Amino acid sequence: MNTIDYVYRFDPKNPSVKPPPPDAESARRMLEDGNRMFSEWMESCRTGTFSNGEPRYVVQCNGLEVGMIRTLGELPKQAPFAVVVGCSDARVPTEMLFGQGFNDLFVIRVAGNVMGNECQGSIDFALNALSESVKVLVVLGHSGCGAVTGAVDAYLRPLKFWSKSTSNMLRSILERIFVAVREAANGIKEVWGPEARNMPGYREALIETAVCINAAQSAFQLRSEVEAAGKWEIDVLYGVFNLKNHQVSMPNDPNAPPSAENVHLAHAPSTPREFQTLATHMAELLRYRATAKAGTNGAPASPANSAAPTDHPKE
Ligand SMILES: [Zn+2]
Repeated sequence: MNTIDYVYRFDPKNPSVKPPPPDAESARRMLEDGNRMFSEWMESCRTGTFSNGEPRYVVQCNGLEVGMIRTLGELPKQAPFAVVVGCSDARVPTEMLFGQGFNDLFVIRVAGNVMGNECQGSIDFALNALSESVKVLVVLGHSGCGAVTGAVDAYLRPLKFWSKSTSNMLRSILERIFVAVREAANGIKEVWGPEARNMPGYREALIETAVCINAAQSAFQLRSEVEAAGKWEIDVLYGVFNLKNHQVSMPNDPNAPPSAENVHLAHAPSTPREFQTLATHMAELLRYRATAKAGTNGAPASPANSAAPTDHPKE
């Protein structure tokens, strides 16, 4: 493999090369386009298939706005176009995966992207102090989330959750995700049938469905708050970053091959009923994968012949 460059470019001849998006729709497109470029670049690096020279990714930055081409000591003005609430997971670098640079995103990261008081306070600050520039608010979950996995395992094995090995602080994060896990479990049971819990692929499906529902629920809550504050011009969006194909999508098929069409930030649900629809949609998506894995020669297996779970939660 050759050297790979990821470049932040500040051009002194063109210090305002990237104009801020004028509205919420343009902001959404800017994030989605950035993620498309990022995921294509990652795929080129992985496969070694790129058309011109080395795989190189250039993020244009406005040098003027971040104070690089100003009088020494002059304070640049903070002017992000998006507020992003994401998980602390080190594999999910927010600016990088959206192809953004300095002064573009106001980022709040907390394990499981849960809405605690400090997180809410940071969002309130952004919506009030930065309302001139902010166009969208994004909740970003990710596949294989450790916090959601912890909540799923606690849901499946409550005795372990209540043991002393789980700290109170960690417990408070997991408790915030339980509602999403329950909604996910109901959706899977509805689609897979009453024996869902004993079917192969159940735990993985529960994790990935709960990741989507968790992001959707936070987006729903934030949408109510944004509307209550009368900030109608700000859109609330949500999506899930897929660790395998490096794309942000909703709903997220954790095993989907990379494709430009996958990239999508959804608008926040307007009613809780949409969580149910999302859960059953995810259960449909993941049923095929689970049953195909269990069947012979790729043939789907029925619940009756898949009684022996292959990935039952570990102790
Ligand atoms: Zn996570």
